[in-house]
Amino acid sequence: MKKNNFQVQPLPAADRPDRRDAEEAVRTLLRWTGEDPNRDGLVETPSRVVRAFEEYFRGYAEDPEQILHKTFEEIEGYDEMIVLRGIRFESHCEHHMAPIIGRAWVGYIPTGKVVGISKLARIVDVYAKRLQIQEKMTAQIAQAIQTVLEPEGVGVVIKAEHHCMTTRGIHKPGTDLVTSRMLGVFRDDPKTRQEFLSMID
Ligand SMILES: [Zn+2]
Repeated sequence: MKKNNFQVQPLPAADRPDRRDAEEAVRTLLRWTGEDPNRDGLVETPSRVVRAFEEYFRGYAEDPEQILHKTFEEIEGYDEMIVLRGIRFESHCEHHMAPIIGRAWVGYIPTGKVVGISKLARIVDVYAKRLQIQEKMTAQIAQAIQTVLEPEGVGVVIKAEHHCMTTRGIHKPGTDLVTSRMLGVFRDDPKTRQEFLSMID
């Protein structure tokens, strides 16, 4: 299969610092803020931060193709839209490493095979658990499903709050950013697009 933009290869392990270097980097940031990383309350912080990073960025270790690989073909000719709505996710922006908290709507029209619905949520997480910009994440989710499942089309809508503009910078809480990516019939057929968009609240 051709490697598409949905397949982002992480740095090879040999090019990455080890855990001790990562913890040292956190200590450096703590000192930079004016803190003493050796005081009681902060002694364990670097290792906690590194563990948290493992969770925030675990998507680099996951392969979207693998997740979508197992499909079900006994679907009695089902060929209508399948939509998983309001999938909550947490991500981090690649410009500030600030949280992006939002929800995703993922729909597709199958051609002969479907994936387990939890896989749609996992695909959102694979891309959320990386450094992101929302526009790219929206496109990657749609492209992964389109390439691996080869459905009639895919629609992805994401609404998210960006903490780099709600809790810092321009400080505009209550705003969210809406992005969408439509492929196949979701792009070409206005009725399909409308049906999908009517399921988004
Ligand atoms: Zn940002």
